[in-house]
Amino acid sequence: MTADAALWLFADQLGPHFTDGPDTHDRDIVLIESAHALRHKGYHRQKLHLVLAAIRALRRDLGDRVTVVEAASYRAGLREYGRPVVVHEPGSHAAHRLVRRLREDGVVTEILPTPGFTLSTRDFAEWVRDRPRYVMEDFYRDQRRRHGVLLEPDGEPVGGRWNTDHDNREPPPSGADTLGVPAPWHPRENEIDERVRADLDAMSGLHTVGEDGPRRFAVSRTEAKRALRRFLDARLPTFGTHQDAMLGGDWAMSHALLSVPINLGLLDPLDVVRQAERRYHDGHAPLSSVEGFTRQILGWREWVWQLYWHLGPDYSRHNALRAETPLPAWWTELDADAVTARCLSVAMAGVRDRGYAHHIQRLMVLGNHALQRGYHPARLTEWFATAFVDGFPWVMPANVIGMSQYADGGIVATKPYAAGGAYINRMSDHCGDCVYDPKVRVGENACPYTAGYWAWMDRSAGRLRGNHRMAKPLGSLERLRDRAAVVEQEHDRNRF
Ligand SMILES: Cc1cc2nc3c(=O)[nH]c(=O)nc-3n(C[C@H](O)[C@H](O)[C@H](O)COP(=O)(O)OP(=O)(O)OC[C@H]3O[C@@H](n4cnc5c(N)ncnc54)[C@H](O)[C@@H]3O)c2cc1C
Repeated sequence: MTADAALWLFADQLGPHFTDGPDTHDRDIVLIESAHALRHKGYHRQKLHLVLAAIRALRRDLGDRVTVVEAASYRAGLREYGRPVVVHEPGSHAAHRLVRRLREDGVVTEILPTPGFTLSTRDFAEWVRDRPRYVMEDFYRDQRRRHGVLLEPDGEPVGGRWNTDHDNREPPPSGADTLGVPAPWHPRENEIDERVRADLDAMSGLHTVGEDGPRRFAVSRTEAKRALRRFLDARLPTFGTHQDAMLGGDWAMSHALLSVPINLGLLDPLDVVRQAERRYHDGHAPLSSVEGFTRQILGWREWVWQLYWHLGPDYSRHNALRAETPLPAWWTELDADAVTARCLSVAMAGVRDRGYAHHIQRLMVLGNHALQRGYHPARLTEWFATAFVDGFPWVMPANVIGMSQYADGGIVATKPYAAGGAYINRMSDHCGDCVYDPKVRVGENACPYTAGYWAWMDRSAGRLRGNHRMAKPLGSLERLRDRAAVVEQEHDRNRF
């Protein structure tokens, strides 16, 4: 390696697009295992495992080019390393502040743009300027145009439609225990896993949540390629149709399970999208699946990244619905066995056992419960960021504060994602063998989601009145015969 300054990588910058670009290919690489970063929050045990294994896999794969420094902090690690470094724009406000300070101190000589996303924050600022509202759909269509994805030569969308959501909201197939799609890629653990597990066991002062368990997600470039290939070959053709559905016996459904390798920076998002697009042109996967997947990666993922920077660090302080309830211990300890409602218990068990729950469980089961019970949005954000294996700071504000909790009062979402048990019943097989009845509002078997929905509406009515999309449910609230009884019951509820 020739360049003077080495390339300092954070653990979410591990792919070739970070290390083999024109400004980086001839640099030595340094990664820091910071004791402070590992210990200062109660992360899921499997999250820490994935991050450490990913750092060490890069060292194994790139050999002498990579130095891993174990140190108390990033700053101490760079001091010990002793050479100036360049670094890509990092993925959090805190890391951004640190990198700026290190630049002022001369430790960092240059901050390179991040190749982890397809659009620079400067281009987004240009795009968003003068727009009265943040609309993901507009952004997504421009992303397709910008990168030439799923377009006809005249610039129109292939198949004549930008959006195939209409085909992608099916409930689960009736009577099925699983979707019956081919299983996702699964890693074979190796000596790095063994070593990481032993190191985590031996680490003093480490507080983790969740169960340890077999590693389920890709941590090296080769593994990430295999996981992607398996998804594209075997699961992309069924992606989308049941994206909003839940089955108790099928934790993976037809989801991509790629958020870990993508967020670790092992896969280049545009390359992922182009490979999926090829499957459509080859006739291997239908448009609804490929468009649905493209929307997730080129649309949603990029959107929440851009909003993180655009809305700034203070955005996470929003608490428009004045939700002040502390997160209960069974929630922070991921105690799925303390929960009776089947949908909530299954989702929580997924977080406990895998550090993973799929999107609709995050939004309509976990997030919906937190919204109804008034959990403090910033505390909840912290919980999502630490309890999930794919949790990183930039993903949280738009997804949790904006979408899931409506804590920003409507900056990101046009209405709260709140729903009663009827929605969960329609979209899952959970309610059949649950002791609660989604149709019952009052009594022993009153569904906590159904009753919780009306109690939340009652509490939030004043703050929601200005939102025209809430006019209908607010009207229904006025006509609710047992409103007072529901509110009283839910006020006292401590069993879910
Ligand atoms: C409350 C809440 C918390 C979330 N927390 C996280 C998180 O910590 N980390 C995370 O990566 N995603 C998060 N998401 C978004 C989404 O739920 C996950 O990306 C997805 O469930 C990961 O599983 P998958 O790889 O099987 O994704 P699929 O559902 O198969 O989607 C494919 C890919 O699209 C991307 N994607 C789709 N939707 C989003 C989105 N809203 N935001 C960002 N990326 C998206 C991901 O890279 C994902 O791997 C959250 C969503 C909600 C509502």
